[in-house]
Amino acid sequence: VIDAGQPEHSVVTTCAYCGVGCSFKAEMKGGQLIRMVPYKGGDANHGHACVKGRFAFGYATHKDRICEPMIRESIEEPWRAVSWDEAIHFAANRLKETQSRYGRESIGGITSSRCTNEETYLVQKLIRAAFGNNNTDTCARVCHSPTGYGLKTTLGESAGTQTFDSVMEADTIVVIGANPTDAHPVFGSQVRRRLREGAKLIVIDPRRIDLLKTPHGGEAIHLPLRPGTNVAMVNALAHVIVSEGLEDKAFIEQRCDQTQYTAWREFIQEERHSPEAMEAVTGVPADLVRQAARAYAANGNGAIYYGLGVTEHSQGSTMVMGIANLAMATGNLGREGVGVNPLRGQNNVQGSCDMGSFPHELPGYQHVGDAAVRARFSDVWGVAIDDEPGLRIPNMFDAAIAGTFKGLYVQGEDIAQSDPNTQHVEAALTALDCLIVQDIFLNETAKYAHVLLPGSTFLEKDGTFTNAERRINRVRKVMAPVAGLADWEVTMALSNALGYPMNYRHPSEIMDEIALLTPTFAGVSYDKLERLGSIQWPCNDEHPEGSPTMHEVDFPIGKGRFAVTEYVATEERTNRKFPLVLTTGRILSQYNVGAQTRRTENERWHEEDLLEIHPSDAELRGIHDGDWLGISSRVGRTVLRAKVSERMLPGVVYTTFHHPGSGANVITTDSSDWATNCPEYKVTAVQVEKVSQP
Ligand code: SF4
Repeated sequence: VIDAGQPEHSVVTTCAYCGVGCSFKAEMKGGQLIRMVPYKGGDANHGHACVKGRFAFGYATHKDRICEPMIRESIEEPWRAVSWDEAIHFAANRLKETQSRYGRESIGGITSSRCTNEETYLVQKLIRAAFGNNNTDTCARVCHSPTGYGLKTTLGESAGTQTFDSVMEADTIVVIGANPTDAHPVFGSQVRRRLREGAKLIVIDPRRIDLLKTPHGGEAIHLPLRPGTNVAMVNALAHVIVSEGLEDKAFIEQRCDQTQYTAWREFIQEERHSPEAMEAVTGVPADLVRQAARAYAANGNGAIYYGLGVTEHSQGSTMVMGIANLAMATGNLGREGVGVNPLRGQNNVQGSCDMGSFPHELPGYQHVGDAAVRARFSDVWGVAIDDEPGLRIPNMFDAAIAGTFKGLYVQGEDIAQSDPNTQHVEAALTALDCLIVQDIFLNETAKYAHVLLPGSTFLEKDGTFTNAERRINRVRKVMAPVAGLADWEVTMALSNALGYPMNYRHPSEIMDEIALLTPTFAGVSYDKLERLGSIQWPCNDEHPEGSPTMHEVDFPIGKGRFAVTEYVATEERTNRKFPLVLTTGRILSQYNVGAQTRRTENERWHEEDLLEIHPSDAELRGIHDGDWLGISSRVGRTVLRAKVSERMLPGVVYTTFHHPGSGANVITTDSSDWATNCPEYKVTAVQVEKVSQP
């Protein structure tokens, strides 16, 4: 951190790390960013910030930044630095050749939850209009795609229902598969404040997370369930609510579809879902589950917050629907202090999903199979839109290995490091004829690329991010792009070289087009964002200044739809060879695969990923703190050092994935959510043994 005294000027912008979306004043002096000061006028953070947003911005000017476009004929050759013009035309020609040889469907692209809404919109438009197919997907595939499916199916909209501030009205706060104090620190502090005021806390997580240590006036209940048994747990909670008469009958009658409610009620009342019957599955004592169900359903406002511990499972979508069932059954929707709230990991996961990154949905979650929707887009874009959903990321990998998918454009996502079963991903990337990587660093994926296009950080462009509470925040340019072009300008150049014209002069013009085509963004403009500071969608004629709370009067689908949520055990079973379950998570000072934070002072606080193991499992294997451990799964093996910790359940081990060398994804498997293919990162059967050295 440079402390250079008084700034010459400052620019208000939005943090590019987590889904809280804190506002900062970027203070500049002599052309350099000298400080990030939490902005009191920020609607998501009100002047608060964490160690990532406040201090970890040095990566933007790190010596490792890619400053020139590079190309090579094959991945065996060294990179050759070229002009933007040469790189863009090389990329466009390769994509054209690939399509003429293997067909229109043989190429696709991946959008980034790190980039702005406007950039994401342009990438999916490039794929649909210039590539001529729907082979677009997003890194949200590997995190919150089950949220999209589960909330849209039950509540009619793929988004969290509340503002963060709404938690201050909650009487019971339920945190499921999330660790807000590390992964969403500013919101985590807000939860702590509310707990100190006396709210009850329920944590459903195999790990004893830090929120449970918060001194608070209210009761705290920890349900330390076995990884992979979320749906059994949510069904047991619902069973208690129904069997003990804790439902909100008026809400259910007025707001929910009665046919689906009746079917769900009959299902959930079956004795096999009772906490007593489920105890053998979840490992959680039945009386604790009953206490938790009563605390959520009969203690005023109940608010649920959940994270990747819900979504990254083979039943991720089922669990999201189970959570929505709980909220509908207890009437905990449509006002302050309640709701169903996914805590999005990255700064713009919500936005990248909103902007039509999925292969079956155009911006605003409008299905490509709907002829009226396609006609509206065709009118504005001037091309026909394919009516068949395209390939998801795992399907792209499979098709690449099968030889039918040969070209990929990846903006701001390190798929080689962040997707599961690294060996499979690498085999797919090696099989491509044309891999175009657009990123700020030479990442792991770039090792397989033919074209490297320098990316731009959030400090180098204008645009918007949408945080986990649907809040559209402005991102403002603080400095010039180090390589001369912002990401949206690169996508435009590629599109023009492919023969589909894109000529926006400023991201505000892209937002105007988004508003024209996306009903939930119909009232959004840069002028309005300047006036209001931020806007929570839906923003339209009905809600011209946005919608802090969703579903106040009705659901976008009319009535809320209960879903029958049958528990199905994961196929990733433990056995004598792989007796432990590995689950993964994050730490406060680092961020995701660490590409940014490892290039800042934050690295000093967490220099390596460790394997947390319960003392009983450690003792059995003669393991002590700091020992080197070999960790083997059915697909691979890696080596980490040990941290013996009582935060783990016996039989469960845990690691973070912030360093490429940790190899967490070398051992995670191809198992995925049945509805969305979100990988089952949270359950991998492993064996752990002491080794002498890595
Ligand atoms: Fe950035 Fe999230 Fe920290 Fe806020 S809480 S400063 S958005 S990382």
